[in-house]
Amino acid sequence: MRLLIMGPPGAGKGTQGALIAEHLVIPAISTGAIFRSNVANQTELGQVVAKIMAEGGLVPDEVTIAIVADRLAQPDTAQGFLLDGFPRTVAQAEALDAILEKLGTPLDTALSLTADPDELVARMLKRAEIEHRADDNEATIRQRFAVYQEETAPLLDLYRRRGQLTEVNGLGDIPEVTGRILEALGR
Ligand code: AMP
Repeated sequence: MRLLIMGPPGAGKGTQGALIAEHLVIPAISTGAIFRSNVANQTELGQVVAKIMAEGGLVPDEVTIAIVADRLAQPDTAQGFLLDGFPRTVAQAEALDAILEKLGTPLDTALSLTADPDELVARMLKRAEIEHRADDNEATIRQRFAVYQEETAPLLDLYRRRGQLTEVNGLGDIPEVTGRILEALGR
């Protein structure tokens, strides 16, 4: 199965993406996780993206697209994959279309986790205390929401028009949401 998981900041796409990918025995590919590990290891890429991430902005499309194109060329994606946090812009969605067309492997579903923004901000501030993520302070959280609304939310319509959007209520405890997603996927 070839999936992507989208949702506003803090909706749990990372957590749910990993659980769903494990259930389906496919790799979960998180661009955010790839960037965070590059920042932690102080690679060249990490140095480019650290400030952007800390401010809640988006890493430039060409950088992000090249990383995903490389990753989807790895043999472990042959049986499917779950993309977490990509695409986030129209240009990324178009690039993904081109990559998948070249591979001859269409997307099955774009999962969208829906949630009330106030609830999410509260959730993220709590996560900030526990995980100490550099991009979980209040100003950055607000910026990430603004970027989501501006750049990423329009993609929901794009996948909806294509009949590829599966919306799932993301509020609730983790197993409950996982159950809803699997049910929506018919698994
Ligand atoms: P995430 O873990 O998906 O919330 O991503 C954390 C941060 O990584 C985002 O706020 C962006 O700065 C960066 N990032 C992750 N995925 C992308 C993407 N597809 N395009 C641009 N920036 C991204």
